[in-house]
Amino acid sequence: MELRFSDADEKFRAEVRDFLTKDLTEELRQAGKASTSAFSEREWNLGWLKILNARGWAAPDWPVEYGGTGWTVSQKYIFDTECALAETPPLSPMGLRMVAPVIMAFGRPDQKEFYLPRILAGEDYWCQGYSEPGSGSDLASLKCRATSDGDDYIIDGTKIWTTQAHYANRMFALVRTDFTVKAQEGITFLLLDMNTPGITIQPIITLAGDHEVNQVFFDGVRVPKANRIGAEGQGWTIAKYLLVHERGNSFAARIRVGLEKVKAIAQETGAAEDGDFTRRLAEAGVALEALTMTEHRVMAAISQGAMMAAESSMLKTLGTELLQRVNELGIEALGNAAIPYAHDWTRPGANATPLGPAAAPVLMAQYLNNRAASIYAGANEIQRNIMSKLVLGL
Ligand SMILES: Cc1cc2nc3c(=O)[nH]c(=O)nc-3n(C[C@H](O)[C@H](O)[C@H](O)COP(=O)(O)OP(=O)(O)OC[C@H]3O[C@@H](n4cnc5c(N)ncnc54)[C@H](O)[C@@H]3O)c2cc1C
Repeated sequence: MELRFSDADEKFRAEVRDFLTKDLTEELRQAGKASTSAFSEREWNLGWLKILNARGWAAPDWPVEYGGTGWTVSQKYIFDTECALAETPPLSPMGLRMVAPVIMAFGRPDQKEFYLPRILAGEDYWCQGYSEPGSGSDLASLKCRATSDGDDYIIDGTKIWTTQAHYANRMFALVRTDFTVKAQEGITFLLLDMNTPGITIQPIITLAGDHEVNQVFFDGVRVPKANRIGAEGQGWTIAKYLLVHERGNSFAARIRVGLEKVKAIAQETGAAEDGDFTRRLAEAGVALEALTMTEHRVMAAISQGAMMAAESSMLKTLGTELLQRVNELGIEALGNAAIPYAHDWTRPGANATPLGPAAAPVLMAQYLNNRAASIYAGANEIQRNIMSKLVLGL
């Protein structure tokens, strides 16, 4: 198997670097550096999307007919890597990488025509309504009810941990249309307008001080049946299709940026003098090389037509656990400077001076926020169950 990049790939890398040097504005560069999680603020997100869309690079994963780039698997990987190294603000995956593939695979022609261009142009901002109190890993037990009423459904219930629901004007949701059949068979996939009467959004402020997640309440919310994707009761099949897209990200480049920052901080604070600390830093570096090679291996297999299955769970588990390990080393390197952290300091333009290294507030917020990385997009314990089933046949 060929794991090196071709000359054509390296030429493409140079083109991407040139674009990033010229088109990524200083404001967005600073915003990317200040991002404390896999999501950035709406204005940064949309600002970067607009620049990418003008270049025709907003949706590398989409087929060309819908506005994709037609890039090879390795070109997409190079693009992701270079964006991570340049610390571009993360784009919300909810529209581009999650609901869009579902609309392409299961939507009606009129739904594709309406929603897909709006996602590319940033006219719609999406959130994901899957989890409920008591229905996370055991998602099929969800209870949010959609009652049939003529051409509409009436939605009653609640969704929780809904990332950026307070920014979103649309939600894709799993709702229960049938309580009498096997749990998985009574679920339907719906698209909702967040401005519909009866929807209330309640913020949940995380340990990192971020307002990123919410609880959303539905009280007699009327949604046209025309907003359903696929058939009634097909929601579980669609949800599983979407989750593979949600998990299959590349992590190595982002972690590499984090590891380099930790090394610089360790020099500044003196942690680099500690033999035990540097040994663990080196071990994380070795794990990062292994993850990078694993990503290349998976990418090479996909370019030859293989489908993501257990690989998606493997990359999610390895990537999030290494990310957390590097974050922990960063906090250790900061020492006391990690303590007087204030959330406002992570915003661009903040004029407070952090104690210790300049990166301290953002690093602390990232450390706290990334504790959730092994929980969201399916907890890592669940990923291990999936791998043991698919790979070991347990
Ligand atoms: C920051 C953040 C953002 C999120 N954003 C969204 C969003 O936008 N939209 C959305 O719908 N959801 C979102 N989620 C929800 C996320 O998908 C769930 O938190 C996740 O699926 C776990 O569900 P739970 O929280 O109910 O925990 P539980 O399912 O109750 O799990 C608790 C613990 O038990 C373990 N466990 C559970 N079942 C098993 C099992 N069978 N075998 C082994 N271990 C098991 C879990 O791994 C976990 O450690 C988000 C969560 C977080 C933290």
